[in-house]
Parts: sequence; C-alpha cells; structure tokens
Amino acid sequence: MSRTVYVNGDFVPEEEARISVFDRGFLFADGVYEVTSVLGGRILDFDGHAARLERSLAELGMGMPVTRDALLEIHRRLIAENGIDDGLVYLQVTRGAADRDFAYPSQDTPQTVVLFTQSKPGLADNPLAREGLKIISIPDERWGRRDIKTVQLLYPSMGKMMAKAAGAHDAWMTEDGHVTEGTSNNAYIVKDGVIVTRDLGPEILHGITRKAVLRFAREAQMKVEERAFTLEEAAAAQEAFVTSASTFVMPVVEIDGHPVGDGRPGPIAIRLREIYLDESRKASL
Ligand code: PMP
Repeated sequence: MSRTVYVNGDFVPEEEARISVFDRGFLFADGVYEVTSVLGGRILDFDGHAARLERSLAELGMGMPVTRDALLEIHRRLIAENGIDDGLVYLQVTRGAADRDFAYPSQDTPQTVVLFTQSKPGLADNPLAREGLKIISIPDERWGRRDIKTVQLLYPSMGKMMAKAAGAHDAWMTEDGHVTEGTSNNAYIVKDGVIVTRDLGPEILHGITRKAVLRFAREAQMKVEERAFTLEEAAAAQEAFVTSASTFVMPVVEIDGHPVGDGRPGPIAIRLREIYLDESRKASL
C-alpha cells in the first residue's frame, strides 16, 4: 500500500514524491537524519531526536528548516495518515539543491526536508531480544565526525554485509585497539557489575537511547563507567549489549565466535530493556 510521505511542505503519495538530481544529499551526502520509534501510535523521545537534529545541522552550518513544534506535527500527521501503530519515522534534512560545487551554496538555498514512516508491527517484541545478537569486530573506517548524524552510511552498510557474510547479526567497530560503537548502535559491556560504554566525543554518535538508558541505569543504582574498552575486555565481560532508537536495548551473546558470559542475554541488559521500554512509553508523545 502506498504511503503518504512528507516532502518540502507537502504530504504526498510516495510515488509522487520528487527530489532534485542536484540535491546535495544525493551528490555529497550533505545532509543529516533522525530515526524515531513509534509504539502504540506515540513517538518515543521526540525532544531528544529534535535536539540532536538541531546540533547535527549546526555542526554543518545549517539551521532547523522548521520549528520543533512543526516537526512534531509533521510526525503526528504521518503516523495518523499511515495508520502506524508500531514503527519508525525517518527524517532527513539536506542543504538543498544547487549546481554541483564543493563549496556550499548561498545560505538562502531552501533545505530539502523529507519524512516517511515504516510500519513495524511488534517492534518492541523482537524475538532477537530473547536470543541475543551475534556480532563480529571490524576496523572502524568511517570519517572522524561520527557525532554528526550524516547520511553517509556506506561503511556501516558494508559492516552489516560483513557481519551477514560471517553469519552474524551485526559488527562492532574498533579503532586504536578500542571499540567505538556498533554499525548502527552504541556498544556496552558489563564488567564486575559495572556498565561500561564509550565516552562521548567525535568518535561515536551520541545516541539518544544511550543517554536515556544511562540515566535509567543510574536511577536504578547501577554503576556506569563512560570510557573506551577493548575487545579483550569484551571477550571477558559478563554481559554485552547495544542500544538504538529502533532496537532499544539488545543483548549481545557472541563476539567473534566466542560466547559472552554464559552465551545468553544477561540480566542487566534484560532489565534495562524493560525499564527503557516502560519509561519511554510513559513519556511518549
Ligand atoms: N551509533 C550509530 C553509528 C548509529 O547509527 C546509531 C543509530 N542511529 C546509534 C549509535 C544509536 O543512536 P540512537 O540511540 O539515537 O538511535
């Protein structure tokens, strides 16, 4: 069934949506994006995603194309028109269309704004959360500003394919002997009862789910350390897990063919998933 999508102020059937071949998102990956979960027709952590969008845009010398409130209304209308109960809203903002030139076009070039929905019935009931993920490690060969959520996702795409070829679900990327993050999620281990995850910096995306999960963990009196960890530490960890807006908290049960802990989802990951889903649903808009 054809979806209604949003393109530059219009709500149109997906087959009628048009973007210029000169769009800088297409030519230079000169754009940023957000993916927000919808559970029971309501949006999870909209404010977190809107704030990060504004930051990503600012880092690239762009402003918000519409106000936060207008953005929320666009999300809501798409969710309603497409009858989304559980699913995702994808949002992309680019620097707009201009004759091809490495230099940015003038500031008054209209930005391109696109949003669409993806229906994912049972999103919070993913059977993988009970099985846990198998991951492999790969070198991190992305650019140096991973804190900006740009649409240049080719290396993460290649990483997912490498994982698939190895019979795994996903990959963790390493740099200078330390894990940065997963191809599309933040990475965690549990060591001596302490939750360890990479500290914030340009090396990783500042996950909205990461922020919420660390807050809930601290509120539940769990110990958290934000620092880089090695694959050797991960191999010896009691538990491992990842977080992202679309998968929430997902246990990791195998790294490079070796079981993590007893090879089953760990209690801390399971508990954090429950808390995250409960609290996020309560605060959803
Ligand atoms: N790191 C990377 C590289 C990602 O692509 C994502 C998901 N977009 C995340 C972390 C998780 O971020 P969030 O919790 O905001 O989805």
